[in-house]
Amino acid sequence: MDFDAMFNAQLGALKEEGNYRIFAELERRCGAFPKARSHDADTPDEVTVWCSNDYLGMGQNDHIRQVMKDTVDQCGTGAGGTRNISGTNKYHVALERELADLHGKDSALLFTSGYVSNWAALGTLGARLPDAVILSDELNHASMIEGIRHSRAQKRIWKHNDPEDLDRQLATLPANAPKIVAFESVYSMDGDICPMKEIVEVAEKHGAMTYLDEVHAVGLYGPRGGGVSEREGLADRITLIEGTLGKAYGCMGGYITGSAAMCDFVRSFSSGFIFTTALPPAVAAAAQASVAYLKDSRAERDAQRDRVAYLRAQLDRRGIPHMDNPSHIIPVMIKDPVKCRMLADILMQDWGIYVQPINYPTVPKGTERLRFTPGPLHSYDDIDHLVEALGVLWKQCAIAHAVA
Ligand SMILES: *Cc1c(COP(=O)(O)O)cnc(C)c1O
Repeated sequence: MDFDAMFNAQLGALKEEGNYRIFAELERRCGAFPKARSHDADTPDEVTVWCSNDYLGMGQNDHIRQVMKDTVDQCGTGAGGTRNISGTNKYHVALERELADLHGKDSALLFTSGYVSNWAALGTLGARLPDAVILSDELNHASMIEGIRHSRAQKRIWKHNDPEDLDRQLATLPANAPKIVAFESVYSMDGDICPMKEIVEVAEKHGAMTYLDEVHAVGLYGPRGGGVSEREGLADRITLIEGTLGKAYGCMGGYITGSAAMCDFVRSFSSGFIFTTALPPAVAAAAQASVAYLKDSRAERDAQRDRVAYLRAQLDRRGIPHMDNPSHIIPVMIKDPVKCRMLADILMQDWGIYVQPINYPTVPKGTERLRFTPGPLHSYDDIDHLVEALGVLWKQCAIAHAVA
């Protein structure tokens, strides 16, 4: 058997379609975010990163870095075990308390990443609640989809951000079956935000639990960074809030928060929680410091909002269409995988602008896009430079000036 030939055949098909992923090799430059050194041939030595999920630049925050370094010196590098077998450190416990407080919940449970938290929590809830039905928004993230699949629970897909469709589907289910409504607050590809109050009301009407992914909102929305559920005053009506420590908080890890019984349930039955090494204590300590910091400091959120508004205004001024949405994510639709990759390559090589082309399967075919995430550390000059480059390319590529 020529296994490599089998691998290469499928890789070849990806390349043919323009959907083969090429990673930019970067060296993030602490103190100079969002600048990074590029280690790819044919690119300038220094590039400006326009697609980072370190939305607020917390990854270079002096205080958080100091906490991480101090904790390494105090506790060493790794946790040394699973949470059950010697791996639970006081920093994990303190972080879980911090996260429960962030969302106004009794308890929180830490995971290695946001992906793992969705996969493990939905997998466990769906598998262990007898006859559970999971109702999943059609644009939910891969980690939720995989968790639901793994649970083997019955699954219903409802129309994206459509509480009426959710209501109709819930009405067809047996009254006594446990129902879980799984959805996100900020959807990261279109940057749209769910109608949370309506979804919660529909779920409550049918006695369903709500499972909310706030990965792209924690740290960014709400007076203390508790996400859209905090901003809308709905956190206490959501059964489970899930988030990440790897995006706005600038560290690594994922979590769920909710009732003490629910967190204890997932802690006790979830293989993805139990059989894996705990996060390094230094990561937990830094993440806690970051969550606590953003509970108090609004400066980063305010500056991010300012840069987002400025970039949108400059794009409008140049006639470059971008998707209108109420979030911090600015998608510019290209609608062709090959053009999308080509534009990204030119931006990188000729302009020192790094934006990763977003192609299938991250988004549906025909909706390929460039996706910009301006943050507090992008200067107005950075933004002007980006808009200048896009303006020039827009003319050259003769892409229709029609709003997506
Ligand atoms: C990134 C992402 C996750 C996974 O979080 P990680 O901490 O990066 O593993 C989960 N849900 C959504 C919607 C995401 O975009």
